[in-house]
Amino acid sequence: MKQYRMYIDGRWEDAASGRSFESFNPYTGQPWALIPSGDQDDVDRAVTAAHRALHSPEWRGLTASARGALLRKLGDALAEYADHLAEIEVRDNGKLFSEMRAQTSYMREWFYYFGGLADKIEGSVIPTDKAGHFNFTKHEPVGVVAAIIPWNSPLFLASWKMAPALAAGCTLVFKPSEYTSASLLEFARILDDVGFPPGVFNVVTGMGPEVGAPLSSHPLVSKVAFTGSDATGRKIYASAAESMKRVTLELGGKSANIVFADANQDNAVKGVVSGIFAASGQTCVAGSRLLVQRSIHDQFVERLVDFARTAKIGNPMSADTQVGPVTNLPQLEKITGYIDIAKREGATCLLGGKRPEAPEFENGWFVEPTIFSNVRNSMRVAQEEIFGPVLSIIPFDDEDEAVAIANDSLYGLASGVWTEDLRRALLLPDRLESGTVWVNTYRTMSYLTPFGGFKHSGLGKESGQEGIREYLRTKSIWIST
Ligand code: NAD
Repeated sequence: MKQYRMYIDGRWEDAASGRSFESFNPYTGQPWALIPSGDQDDVDRAVTAAHRALHSPEWRGLTASARGALLRKLGDALAEYADHLAEIEVRDNGKLFSEMRAQTSYMREWFYYFGGLADKIEGSVIPTDKAGHFNFTKHEPVGVVAAIIPWNSPLFLASWKMAPALAAGCTLVFKPSEYTSASLLEFARILDDVGFPPGVFNVVTGMGPEVGAPLSSHPLVSKVAFTGSDATGRKIYASAAESMKRVTLELGGKSANIVFADANQDNAVKGVVSGIFAASGQTCVAGSRLLVQRSIHDQFVERLVDFARTAKIGNPMSADTQVGPVTNLPQLEKITGYIDIAKREGATCLLGGKRPEAPEFENGWFVEPTIFSNVRNSMRVAQEEIFGPVLSIIPFDDEDEAVAIANDSLYGLASGVWTEDLRRALLLPDRLESGTVWVNTYRTMSYLTPFGGFKHSGLGKESGQEGIREYLRTKSIWIST
């Protein structure tokens, strides 16, 4: 079994306690790696190193252009190791290799884009109303960042935080999920080779309460950049309030995909299926509620089920697999639990609704793509985030009703609209309470575009120009002439 070590202050270290835990391969259900089980002592060492590095001549003394060049060098190195990183994440997370490979090669763009922004962080000279005074602003790095990420997309989500934070001149302590720590440790090896000064980037592995909690409340941390569930997000927000830390919170969702009678149905069927079943439904933006206009409901649903039925379940490393396993055993139990709840609530199961039965799937953590019709938006299956391959279908009569149902959710991460009506395509997004609206597409994302949720889906934005502002603070300087 492979033994990993944590990355603290440029060194590879075991946990202070000497303890480790096993990481599992979701396809085989077997452990394949040992990960150090960190605690407060490891967090203290890493945060102290990050704080020292923040003010060090090796990091603070670098010009912004040199910082940008280092980020672009990291982007190139990541591209070189794209296959290796993808393979590790498939082994730990179960995501399809084809999807992972697309992600690991696209990650470079975040480092190029934010590397390019590093020397374009400009302050202003402000005309003043005070005679004999001169005023200007500077944008400084916010400080040491605690970056805490979930298990569903570790490398991609880490890049979204790391690239803008480093471009801004911050230093970071990362805590990956206890279910998927390996790929970020492999990432740290690449970063170490590229030549970032010790302490600028650190990874402490372990459990949420033992590493995440002390990290997010540490007095030397200035900002917590968190992606994960809204339940944990609320704890982090509360503890950040105690010590006046800044936060960005990228949390859960229950996104509505709305199909109007005037939609291009071929495109809508494909968009809805990949919107919910990609990564076995374990994406924050999963279009888990499908709202279909009543006049096309029955025939659209029939086409959708026929198409989803053809999805090939299997080994995530195989090129022809379309649906892989879910990432961990508690998640498998949570998903099958929600399937039971939906059946008890009176929804009609049109597809799936169980674990696949062939011997190939005996040990792995698989759930069949599952589709429920006759769902009411008040049902738990329509209100709570399942984070699995479960789609709930709700009919609607007109635009007003579609908007009311879509917005009747605690969450506000994303929505999809399928229509050929130009007026609707332009105006309906204004009425939807979500941070992203996709029209005639779904899950399209870019390093150029701000991403983040409304309501219980979170606070702040990642990516795009707004993404770097989250890691900067503005100082106003007065000089009496
Ligand atoms: P989670 O909240 O259980 O865990 C996320 C991270 O927080 C893990 O590293 C965990 O160890 C850590 N943690 C747990 N307790 C903690 C505590 N008390 N203090 C600090 N850290 C703690 O979430 P998960 O199950 O790993 O991930 C799934 C969730 O992530 C879903 O809700 C999904 O929607 C969300 N997500 C959101 C986005 C987005 O961009 N909005 C993207 C991906 C995933």
